[in-house]
Amino acid sequence: MIQENLSEIRSKIPDSVTLVAVSKTKPIEDVMEAYEAGQRIFGENKVQELVEKYESLPKDIEWHMIGHLQRNKVKYITPFVKLIHGVDSLRLLQEIDKQAAKVDRVQEVLLQMHIAEESTKFGLDENELIEILDQLNEYPHVKVIGLMGMATFSNDEGKVEREFQYLKSLFDKYKSEYQLNTLSMGMSGDFEIAIKNGSTMVRVGSSIFGKRNYN
Ligand SMILES: *Cc1c(COP(=O)(O)O)cnc(C)c1O
Repeated sequence: MIQENLSEIRSKIPDSVTLVAVSKTKPIEDVMEAYEAGQRIFGENKVQELVEKYESLPKDIEWHMIGHLQRNKVKYITPFVKLIHGVDSLRLLQEIDKQAAKVDRVQEVLLQMHIAEESTKFGLDENELIEILDQLNEYPHVKVIGLMGMATFSNDEGKVEREFQYLKSLFDKYKSEYQLNTLSMGMSGDFEIAIKNGSTMVRVGSSIFGKRNYN
């Protein structure tokens, strides 16, 4: 099933858009099944699970941390993680810089923007974004390559679309000045709307691996 799901999703995604297969809560065997179908980029949202999967799976996998990241756990993933999607504070970025320096890496990250109506979702507003972008030269072991956002979980496609359009407009406004090239938006329920509105990277879990029992 996983391989069929993957090829169906791939058929809906242009080559210019990167597919992150979100394997959180799913066993190693499921990740291997997707791997054997050619998938090499996987996303996880819990540090411990990410580290365990990294250790037991092939080393040519590119691991992305897509969830909320606590500062005290950054050190476990900076040795290997390819991209951290959810950076939503300067303090977190400072810790990533410090830990990446220790392992002599420049850690690529995305800044997470608050675009959804729900107040529970994490993310920066535009002023906080600019404040961080303007201090980046103080953090040479972090490279901000783009923005990430999550739309409201809603059946109202117009609303989801407006939220993605807002994120895209921020991306366009700042991309040349700050050399941003990645816009991570779109999940199982809304990746087609996200792509239509300029996403360059989608994070798709349940449409590939099936429903999860917990988040
Ligand atoms: C779980 C998760 C996804 C994938 O969600 P699906 O609806 O299963 O595709 C994408 N992004 C983030 C940040 C997630 O936590």
